[in-house]
Amino acid sequence: MPSTEMNETGQREPDHSLDPSDWNQFREAAHRMLDDVISHIETVRSRPVWQSPSPASRSMFDRPLPFGSRELEDVLGDVRTHILPFATGNLHPMFMGWVHGAGTPIGMVAEMVAGGLNLNCGGRDHIGLQVERQIVQWMSKALGYPTGSSGLFVTGSSMANFLAVTIARTAALGVSVRKTGLHDVGGRLVAYASKEAHGCIDQAMELSGIGSANLRTIAVDAAGRMRTDALQAAISQDRADGAFPFLVVGTAGTVNTGAIDPLDDIAEISTGEGLWFHVDGAIGALAALSDALRALFAGIEKSASVALDFHKWGHVPYDAGFLLVRDVDAHRRAFEQPAAYLQRADRGLAAGDVWPCDLGPDLSRGFRALKTWMTIETFGSDRIGRSIARTCELARHLARRLDGHPLFEIKAPTALNIVCFGIPGLSSEEIRSLVLDVQEGGLAAPTWTVLNGELVVRCAILNHRMTFADVDIFIDVLVDALAGRGTS
Ligand SMILES: *Cc1c(COP(=O)(O)O)cnc(C)c1O
Repeated sequence: MPSTEMNETGQREPDHSLDPSDWNQFREAAHRMLDDVISHIETVRSRPVWQSPSPASRSMFDRPLPFGSRELEDVLGDVRTHILPFATGNLHPMFMGWVHGAGTPIGMVAEMVAGGLNLNCGGRDHIGLQVERQIVQWMSKALGYPTGSSGLFVTGSSMANFLAVTIARTAALGVSVRKTGLHDVGGRLVAYASKEAHGCIDQAMELSGIGSANLRTIAVDAAGRMRTDALQAAISQDRADGAFPFLVVGTAGTVNTGAIDPLDDIAEISTGEGLWFHVDGAIGALAALSDALRALFAGIEKSASVALDFHKWGHVPYDAGFLLVRDVDAHRRAFEQPAAYLQRADRGLAAGDVWPCDLGPDLSRGFRALKTWMTIETFGSDRIGRSIARTCELARHLARRLDGHPLFEIKAPTALNIVCFGIPGLSSEEIRSLVLDVQEGGLAAPTWTVLNGELVVRCAILNHRMTFADVDIFIDVLVDALAGRGTS
């Protein structure tokens, strides 16, 4: 029964709130939906990895703005019919595209709780900020940063890397650059990253106004790691040319092959040159949770900032990017702004010194910390670390199987969880088309990349649901697909 209230003249008027008119009916519909999504995750193996959205489902989302209301049950029916079957595919153990986390049912519950509470984590004094600070503490400890380091949830590492470039720029030029811009800096700012660095570093240079032409591309060794002799030479050359080096970006797990730059050597060069050392740890930083892998990232603890993604190897539901910054003052100097409506107080809702809105451009922010906290709290760092290490074992198994197979040829060392391979006798176009055939077949989802000008099949193994048997099945899927083309 719709609830009613009295207006000033004592007449009953309809409830204008957006709450359910029948809470029990709502409760039932919501519980059914929750059950359906749990079943969806539980039975993910029984469905295609991916399928293209049907024309009917695409056109479902090409309709005019609805004027009237519908029953929730009806809308949830559309979710079941038109959304559930056509998801990205990254829940499935055979999804190996790009660098996608698989999610967990726990993350889903956390999203539901966070949505229900609807915290605004831009600032103010409430528990959401404390949960976020807990993650900052945990990651500081895990990555060997000092107590009191600063951190912030953002959408993803693209954003975290952009914030890091902005912080490094402000640290190099002083806070006045925020007002004056880059006109009067009296020199060309230059940053350094390897040839294998992610494209978002270029973009961060563009967005920060420094320009991607001022990102020096440093050569890599045969294993895809930054060559520090080339880095040192480039810095010296730029100084000789009167430029103003300010930042080195090391990559802890490149997107193409998972290569890890020599972070310790880069730290030494950066310190010697007085440059900000930022690590793009989008893929690799969480390997700090693994006893088996931690040593590969030695030197990360000497960096000035790290970008990482809980939504990749941490399997926190999208999105959960994160930036860790050693020097909280450098961090807030880049972003904080005086605004009357954001004034702090020594008590009440406006209490607190540093708010997240002082540490990045977002003012209104969701509660990403909750799904991250619940994931880590439930599994513990040991189990997450072991699941990360296990995906590297699966990748090595895949590489070994491919290496011993006459139809395939490994194209890059498997440093972590990414395997790149070629198919001798097939052109780039044929390999691309084979990968697309496999994706459309629904049994597995690899992708491709280009290494040294050559198109190769790329498998990034992150999924905690994948098994050694799945790897073997994947080889069969590839062989069958090749046979299907009459090329094997
Ligand atoms: C994924 C990735 C990024 C971008 O992170 P998003 O979370 O997708 O924004 C940056 N660098 C590397 C090495 C990555 O793998």
